[in-house]
Amino acid sequence: MSVYTIKTDSADHTMAFAEKLGNALQKGDVLTLAGDLGAGKTTFTKGLAKGLGITRTVNSPTFTIIKEYSGRVPLYHMDVYRLEDSDEDLGFEEYFSGEGVSVVEWATFIEEYLPDERLEIVVSHKGDQQREIQLTPIGERYIELIKEIM
Ligand code: ADP
Ligand code: MG
Repeated sequence: MSVYTIKTDSADHTMAFAEKLGNALQKGDVLTLAGDLGAGKTTFTKGLAKGLGITRTVNSPTFTIIKEYSGRVPLYHMDVYRLEDSDEDLGFEEYFSGEGVSVVEWATFIEEYLPDERLEIVVSHKGDQQREIQLTPIGERYIELIKEIM
């Protein structure tokens, strides 16, 4: 599996890259998003939403497991942290194969529901403003997608 790495040096830079990715996404795409608190997951998702044509403000979904935003393509922003100790199925497969793009934080907690093919993204803190974004495309669709935007 190939891992692609992008280094950013500001929140705007992270958002611009995510927006470019968002522009290239289509319905049924599934992204997992990992990283420590403050790494930039929400910042990344804000940029992604912009690329999807979403105008509403995207916030951390912590208190709602799934938040939906409408745009050129809808965004399903999920934070499944609270499902750590349960295997509750909130209809994930319908979201993943639905009309929108799914972004899943803490995806390992719902591993059993995740599609085999997906784009895994990890954001790491490297300095005050420096971040490293690692992208691992799994499956032909995501390999093509990454080639398109890199
Ligand atoms: P998370 O959702 O992972 O907890 P947030 O996106 O909410 O993280 O917070 C990231 C914080 O780091 C924001 O305050 C953002 O402005 C700041 N930041 C500084 N540099 C960067 C960068 N290069 N990429 C993303 N965020 C950055
Ligand atoms: Mg967040």
